[in-house]
Amino acid sequence: MKIEDFLRDIPNFPKEGILFKDITPLLLNHEATKFCLNTLASTLKDRKIDKVVGVESRGFFFGTLLAQELNAGFVPVRKPKKLPYKTISASYALEYGTDSLEIHIDAIQPGDKVLIHDDVLATGGTAEAVCKLIEQLGGEIVQVNFLMELSFLNGRNKLTGKEIFAAITY
Ligand code: 5GP
Repeated sequence: MKIEDFLRDIPNFPKEGILFKDITPLLLNHEATKFCLNTLASTLKDRKIDKVVGVESRGFFFGTLLAQELNAGFVPVRKPKKLPYKTISASYALEYGTDSLEIHIDAIQPGDKVLIHDDVLATGGTAEAVCKLIEQLGGEIVQVNFLMELSFLNGRNKLTGKEIFAAITY
């Protein structure tokens, strides 16, 4: 089975000039989803992960499945003003302007072994901001885990020193 066969390219979404990788055909197929989950978890079985952090919103799908697979808790990182309890936030640069992400202050305990998951590593700004949140709360980042890496955007350069895993690289 090939994960690539269940991804769909959408031209000019969400903006003109962007070729968007759509993962919804993968989620529609339970066998492909299970295969993808096993691939994402393949390097993590004996790593004693305490928390899996999923990034809004497409990081939630495999983030929660990974947490179950690894017997870990799941933590959502969300866009501003979505989380109901006390939060800390980290900003990151967009093409025009900045955006930020938030996490509940009690979601990570100091020393927790943390797996970060998102669907796509593009420029790396999102993942870099999530790493800052985890480190601010005292978590130890074991791996930053993606369904796919768009390697031509050099997102890895923003994650130096971190273990990075991608099920597929374009
Ligand atoms: P970055 O901050 O690395 O530039 O962008 C990564 C974020 O943008 C991820 O949260 C990801 O969900 C989203 N993203 C960027 N490009 C794509 C894409 O082609 N397909 C999907 N599904 N998400 C993308």
